[in-house]
Amino acid sequence: MMHYSDICIVGAGISGLSCVNQLLESSVCNGLDIQVFDMNADVGGRVNSKNLDAEESIELGAGRYSPQLHPNFQRVMQSYDQKNDIYPFTELALKDNVQEKLRSTILSLIPMLKEHGKDSFLSFISSYLGEIEARKIIKSMGYDALFLPNISAEMAYDIIEKHPETQSFSKNALNQWFYASNGFTQLIGQMKAEAQSKGVSFTFDHRLISLIKQDDEYQLTFLNEANETVTHVARHVILAIPPSAMPKLALNFPEDWSQYRYGSLPLFKGFLFYDTPWWEPYQLVDKVIIADNPLRKIYFKSNKYIFFYTDSENASYWHDCLKNGEDEFLKEVHFHLADALDLTPAHIPFPKEHHHKHWPHGVEFCVDTAIEHPFALLHKENGVIACSDAYTSHCGWMEGGILSAKKSAGILIERLSK
Ligand SMILES: Cc1cc2nc3c(=O)[nH]c(=O)nc-3n(C[C@H](O)[C@H](O)[C@H](O)COP(=O)(O)OP(=O)(O)OC[C@H]3O[C@@H](n4cnc5c(N)ncnc54)[C@H](O)[C@@H]3O)c2cc1C
Repeated sequence: MMHYSDICIVGAGISGLSCVNQLLESSVCNGLDIQVFDMNADVGGRVNSKNLDAEESIELGAGRYSPQLHPNFQRVMQSYDQKNDIYPFTELALKDNVQEKLRSTILSLIPMLKEHGKDSFLSFISSYLGEIEARKIIKSMGYDALFLPNISAEMAYDIIEKHPETQSFSKNALNQWFYASNGFTQLIGQMKAEAQSKGVSFTFDHRLISLIKQDDEYQLTFLNEANETVTHVARHVILAIPPSAMPKLALNFPEDWSQYRYGSLPLFKGFLFYDTPWWEPYQLVDKVIIADNPLRKIYFKSNKYIFFYTDSENASYWHDCLKNGEDEFLKEVHFHLADALDLTPAHIPFPKEHHHKHWPHGVEFCVDTAIEHPFALLHKENGVIACSDAYTSHCGWMEGGILSAKKSAGILIERLSK
């Protein structure tokens, strides 16, 4: 079956939906047929809230934002009247009160970035404090990506400044952070509803497998849930899919799009629910602690639940652990949770309910730090536009998706205006 559109957007995460809404704001798109495709069963992508009951939702994907760092995202939240609440995890509860020492160490090395900023973060810190101390410092910040050889000192400082748990070691110590009271998926649902009310149509369970340009049109081939191929012809295309999904399209990514290289890291989140908030007597309410074990960052959310959040090798660790079944996974989590709190496992109860999600490409980014990186990519021959947070200085954040969408939609609007 053949379908046609004027504008086809592939990918219905926050980037794709922001593209749609930007296009709809422009009069040059009046009356144009805009169609959105996604391989998932609904919108959202890496925004993935799970409603537990009428009052509680958890975020398996994106979980928080800062108005100081993410003003465009905040504006979107406000424009849809989304309620927010304070995200409390802006300071690490470190053992032996070593925060101040850590903070002064991290800040004191900033002047050296000028000369050695391109070194890996580990060798940067090691060259001043020795490798043992450097490993201790990096470990205590909870993000394993900071150990990776391709994470330069400049990139590491950027990560430290832009994450709530580590911002207290930087000039951003006073940034505020919020979460969406009803889950970010509600916002995404509203963006979709608005687009639908303006005539945009959505097709799910369709995975783009190839795209070719013929004359002035693009022919897109999708695989639907019944494994049938579906062809769609469009006059204009925006691929709002992350860089990790691009090479599968035989469009010679990244070489025909960009002079830069891209990478991604896995992420894993696990949520644990108990009959009683047993962590209250330990003064852990609304605190995040760093564990020197595979749980890494453990968050105690009010008196409601506990979650842990890991990246890189420890995200893969939990993914592999699940291959032995949910019971083994829970036993392991229980053991490491007790270890992180210096308690015996018998001392803490077993969770009554749990949820988790592994994201093989949780965070996507440009490997070569380049401030001049364009916020949207263009295929050098066929003119297809690619949009992702990974192309912006806010890679790994919804803000980046919105910025890339503005740029992508802007390119298309300019083309349509000619
Ligand atoms: C665990 C986790 C925690 C995070 N925490 C935060 C946070 O606290 N704050 C924050 O701002 N951001 C956070 N992020 C990052 C944030 O989720 C992303 O920056 C943002 O969602 C990216 O949006 P996107 O639309 O560019 O990509 P995605 O959300 O990945 O959307 C891409 C869409 O394209 C579709 N797609 C891909 N390939 C194809 C294909 N071939 N055919 C059809 N469809 C395709 C996918 O199904 C998907 O729906 C987090 C991410 C994860 C995973």
